[in-house]
Amino acid sequence: MSAGKTKYDVIVIGGGASGMMAAGRAAERGKSVVLLEKNPAVGKKLDITGGGRCNITNAEFDRHAFAKHYGASEQFLYSPLSQFGVQDTFDFFTKRGLPLVVEARKRAFPESQKSPDVTRVMKKYLADAGVTVLTHSAVLGLTCIGNRITEVLTKKGVFAADAFVIATGGVSHPETGSTGDGFRWLAELGHTVHPPTPTIVPLKTAEKWVKSLAGISLAAMKITFFADGKRAFSKKGGLLFTHFGLSGPLILNSASAVAELFKEADVTATIDLYPDMDFAALEKLVITKIEANKNKDFKNVLADILPPGMAKAIPQLFTLSEAGVKAHSLTKEERKRLIHILKAAPLTITGLMGFDRAVISDGGVPLTEVDTRTMRSLKINNLYLTGDILHINRPSGGYSLQLCWTTGFVAGNSI
Ligand SMILES: Cc1cc2nc3c(=O)[nH]c(=O)nc-3n(C[C@H](O)[C@H](O)[C@H](O)COP(=O)(O)OP(=O)(O)OC[C@H]3O[C@@H](n4cnc5c(N)ncnc54)[C@H](O)[C@@H]3O)c2cc1C
Repeated sequence: MSAGKTKYDVIVIGGGASGMMAAGRAAERGKSVVLLEKNPAVGKKLDITGGGRCNITNAEFDRHAFAKHYGASEQFLYSPLSQFGVQDTFDFFTKRGLPLVVEARKRAFPESQKSPDVTRVMKKYLADAGVTVLTHSAVLGLTCIGNRITEVLTKKGVFAADAFVIATGGVSHPETGSTGDGFRWLAELGHTVHPPTPTIVPLKTAEKWVKSLAGISLAAMKITFFADGKRAFSKKGGLLFTHFGLSGPLILNSASAVAELFKEADVTATIDLYPDMDFAALEKLVITKIEANKNKDFKNVLADILPPGMAKAIPQLFTLSEAGVKAHSLTKEERKRLIHILKAAPLTITGLMGFDRAVISDGGVPLTEVDTRTMRSLKINNLYLTGDILHINRPSGGYSLQLCWTTGFVAGNSI
């Protein structure tokens, strides 16, 4: 250790999910490790994951089936996933007193349903392995000589090491500390850094009826998107109405494709509230309901036909004069128009919510510039990259955190 400078085997920059895993694993192997975190505490983003419940991974135990969810990155991930995969995540947390439960769409959560419990396990992992954790320690810059980083500068002084991990995350929810510092450094170090766009993010809509349903969620809906009026793609899943538009898994998982459509066109959509019934079957159901309630106000019969909670939107979806009359006086044309609305409620998508609402952002260093067997940079010999700093497009459902556990472990295991 030289005067005024602290030297470690490994410096990990960023105490998010992937940085903690990398630091803990390297220290477990006997390395002297310091974790530099700019916030007052580690795991600030981890604490808010999964709506406070932390969707910690996805219980797809077949490595190849799991890797398919990462699109173009699939092939690159076989090796890291073979070193630390979904089963390893289950074992890691279960062994440390935090068993996991599996919910719909194979999403795995801690049994306690509390994300701070995940952070607690990771903090204990760091402590048990002997990692020096320095909070309030923003890294301000890196010194690179040739193709090796030699030291980092913080307000608390200069820290030197033989190997470095950049685990500073992306740019989503910047209040958690992910402000894109790593992207700037890596660009300066000669890496390609794809500009981030929010990819798992809610959508803004123009229609008032959507906003009047804020808080209502519907399972198994189908949404179809149109670019300049031309059908682009459809997806099925759960949807949540919000005061600004639409959210829920169906929407979050459509957002990156919608962002692509927006580059070239105006985007509209239709929601099919009965995706498992064709027009004729739905018409039959509506006729049966009307027959059974002939003398009731049609408005009340409609409330019975619509999915739960949607009645509030009736006046805007189906004009009041029609909705106010008795059920039996509904004309055939009106009935057909109603069914058309139930099968294709129209929406104007006005945009995507920003980074402040994004669950993950894409962007960052492409995997072609990383040796994914070790997570070592192919440009800087003693640099390792983990978590959201990597450009890997993925859906919601635990796939982001599994990447953090996987890439963090592989880096910590390889240094
Ligand atoms: C609201 C929300 C909910 C989510 N829910 C889920 C979910 O349920 N399941 C799932 O799989 N994924 C979820 N994600 C995504 C997941 O949280 C991220 O993929 C993951 O946390 C990224 O971890 P990371 O280690 O790459 O970086 P981060 O967690 O972003 O951590 C980076 C750390 O680096 C620190 N840092 C940054 N710059 C510096 C610097 N200059 N010096 C020192 N420290 C620095 C930051 O303060 C931060 O603590 C969610 C994301 C959000 C925003």
